[in-house]
Amino acid sequence: MPTFEEARSIILDRVAPLGVERVGLLDALGRVIAEDVVAPWDMPLCDNSAMDGFAVRAADCAATPVSLNVTGYIPAGGEVNGSVEPGCAIRIMTGAPIPPGCDAVVPVEETEDGGAAVIVREPVKPRQHIRFRGEDVAAGDLVIPAGTMIRPPEISMLASFGKAVVPVQRRAQVAILSTGDELIELGEPPVPGKIINSNALSLAASVKEIGAVPLILGIARDNPESHREKMIEGLKADALITSAGVSAGDRDFVREVLAELGVSQLFWRVDIKPGGPTAFGVKDGKPVFSLPGNPVSTMVTFEEFVRPALLKMMGHRRVIKPFIRAVLQGEVRKKPGKINFLRVRLASADGRYLAYSSGDQNTGILKTMLLADAIAVLPADRTSFAPGEEVDVHILSGNVEMLEG
Ligand code: AMP
Ligand code: MG
Repeated sequence: MPTFEEARSIILDRVAPLGVERVGLLDALGRVIAEDVVAPWDMPLCDNSAMDGFAVRAADCAATPVSLNVTGYIPAGGEVNGSVEPGCAIRIMTGAPIPPGCDAVVPVEETEDGGAAVIVREPVKPRQHIRFRGEDVAAGDLVIPAGTMIRPPEISMLASFGKAVVPVQRRAQVAILSTGDELIELGEPPVPGKIINSNALSLAASVKEIGAVPLILGIARDNPESHREKMIEGLKADALITSAGVSAGDRDFVREVLAELGVSQLFWRVDIKPGGPTAFGVKDGKPVFSLPGNPVSTMVTFEEFVRPALLKMMGHRRVIKPFIRAVLQGEVRKKPGKINFLRVRLASADGRYLAYSSGDQNTGILKTMLLADAIAVLPADRTSFAPGEEVDVHILSGNVEMLEG
């Protein structure tokens, strides 16, 4: 049985980026850029004013206050229509091109209106308040290396360089298959003994959340024929996720039918709780994740195993969430032998994270998953954790509550 880290490495070693497509700039948000982006021109493209004020010659303002004749006006987006002659100034707006002769801009706040003249009150340094051509980026500079995830700042840079269409790594199409005779679909009336197929929705949501595309296949019933039919469909996608039917029960057909369809199993069962029965296999380079059926186990194993793999397939370089240290706020006991994923609520106080158990950690309890901000990863060999002890957690999503210091 692999350890948690071993299982994750086995998965990550087997998946690779899917390929490249070109999309409109805004659709590139959250995607990974597939090629280096080199600046096609200088930014800014010309020297321009950083302030609303007056374009001057610094030498004229060596001794202040000084009065300069105002001989022109250049608004933002306007054109230069004269040069700054000695003893003169041109009124200029932020972003407007710097006229010849000018080597400094005086902000309007440091001047007084003198009718046809302007009185400069403060001393002026050469080059002040001018944004010089190419000072941000020079033509030919590498501005975004291939492999970078596109966020609003990357969108800004790409837009500034006129990139309306960008090459990005493909999104993964992820087939989602639920298994079990007890399942009914969302919309059907509740019946004792039946369970609504919520895993299909939580998995689809998790897939969507990371920018991949879910394909919900519905329910395979607890017989090999039904599994086969759905799995053949699922293996056409970039990845297949199944839920339930992966334990050792006599009605658990997931592994058996996957094997029959040519999926080679790389592991079954991992040294973790919840999520122990998880299996992983590949067929023709396509990953197949067989997750346990309990909704909490399904979500936790998606988070720990499937999410990093799908991110890697979509070209991301950073696929594993970093651990942060959090101070445990109550005693926790566990059995030795397995890593435990503890659902915790987080708060922040005095610059430290505090971790509170979100409640009943039984695999069958869904509500404590909703109350969890993070998963604490408790080492296999340990059995008890004292309040005040630091544990490794990784944040699931959302913002953390701030406590008064
Ligand atoms: P199994 O691994 O097949 O024994 O399933 C374990 C438990 O997970 C079942 O008893 C159900 O309560 C639950 N379960 C299985 N599939 C789903 C599903 N698609 N949605 C919600 N709960 C499920
Ligand atoms: Mg079952």
